Amino acid sequence: MVWETIIGIEIHAELKTNSKIFCNCPTKFGAEKNKNTCPVCIGLPGTLPRLNKETIHLAIKAGLSFNCKINNFSKMDRKNYFYPDTPKAYQVSQNDKPICFDGFVDINKGADCVNRIRINRIHIEEDAGKLVHLEREPHTLIDYNRAGIPLIEIVSEPDLRSPTEAVEYVKAIKNILMYQEISDCRMEEGSLRCDANISIRKKGEYKLNTKVELKNINSFKELQKALENEEQRQKELYINNQMDKVMQETRRWDSVKGKTISMRKKEESQDYRYFPEPDIPIITIDKSWINCIKKQLSEFPNERKIRYINNYRLKEKDAELLTSDKALGNYFEKIVASGADPKTTVNWILGDFLKLLKANEISVDQVLIKESDFAELINLIKREDISQKIGKVVFKIMFLTGKRPKVIIEEKGLKQIKNKDALEKIVNEVLTSNTNPVNDYYEGKTQAIGYLMGQIMKETNGQANPQLSKELLLLKLSCKEYLPIHNNDEQ
Ligand SMILES: [Zn+2]
Repeated sequence: MVWETIIGIEIHAELKTNSKIFCNCPTKFGAEKNKNTCPVCIGLPGTLPRLNKETIHLAIKAGLSFNCKINNFSKMDRKNYFYPDTPKAYQVSQNDKPICFDGFVDINKGADCVNRIRINRIHIEEDAGKLVHLEREPHTLIDYNRAGIPLIEIVSEPDLRSPTEAVEYVKAIKNILMYQEISDCRMEEGSLRCDANISIRKKGEYKLNTKVELKNINSFKELQKALENEEQRQKELYINNQMDKVMQETRRWDSVKGKTISMRKKEESQDYRYFPEPDIPIITIDKSWINCIKKQLSEFPNERKIRYINNYRLKEKDAELLTSDKALGNYFEKIVASGADPKTTVNWILGDFLKLLKANEISVDQVLIKESDFAELINLIKREDISQKIGKVVFKIMFLTGKRPKVIIEEKGLKQIKNKDALEKIVNEVLTSNTNPVNDYYEGKTQAIGYLMGQIMKETNGQANPQLSKELLLLKLSCKEYLPIHNNDEQ
């Protein structure tokens, strides 16, 4: 039996506004618990919300970025449910008149092939507070700093066909949100979270089977694992004729146990008893506002990719990787603007730089190396002031300390040995103490050169100028001055 997986994703992204959606409290992450609160955002009776215009502005921007239509009239609704982190016992959201609807995002599949994922709607709503469960304590604490931070919810159609596609989709959305500065998308801080709806059916069937919702996943890795696990769980239930056990429910991904766990039966829309929010007037969005925002849209990842291929003659795959993170692309461009060769820069960035970034678990904006210093290192290697190998050592120190390459080379005495007399002395020493490889060479085994070069580098801690060393080595060997003497010595 061939099965088909059907996935739809809801993404919650915190908008990059300075203040909350209905009050003037700041939105900055990491403040002292319950510091960013006021009577409005902790839901005290008698307070009145005032809708933050910047929220609508960014929601329209998101809509335009994802090819949506924009509703000229939109409204807020109350979604009624009780949860301790929602102090009003309702969330102000949008039900039947979202700001944006009917959009799509294209995911590149290489070689002019795209996978178009339809977006059903994008609406605005307020975020809830955060429950803090203390270990071995009977109490749960609540931090309302997050309550009232504006969110957009981006709801896809069930167009995704595998966990991998779902991850690609969320990555594409995240990238565009960051390029357009709509959200900072810090998944680790919870400013981008996703829920996934997943069901399976026999390949060729049209009807959708019961779907299960996986809640609040905040990393790509966990999303992939959670979906794969749930896909397998459902498959096994269908195969064993236990389809009645696939219920419309909300499940939580337990990354430690590596499985999804039932949380609650999924509420139907009517359970929320939506009704129009009486304290907020209808939102009117005229064409001129939309046009004005359209003009403010900046470069999209795809546009940047094409520019990199055309301007810097980069390979498509490299351009794709560089543009998968706006900050990484910005960093690359500044290094090139400081005078480094673009292709060499790409090799450094996609090689040693990303490796160190990953190993140290930091993001591009936390990197200590200044773009001009990065360019300087590349040019020092190009001018053969240092070898590529030493360059890697210097780079690592730059990454850890933020020091300039010239300072590190000076401090550690890493400058390349280009002096002919000094190198000749080392070459002589290496030839004298490696008689067997030398004899091999004279017997026609030319690969012995590689070994001898390795010995020269070893003697000089990698500081010998490779080209000059090789020239000297070949010159000495061509005179055969090491052949008879050492053969005689050994006999
Ligand atoms: Zn407030």
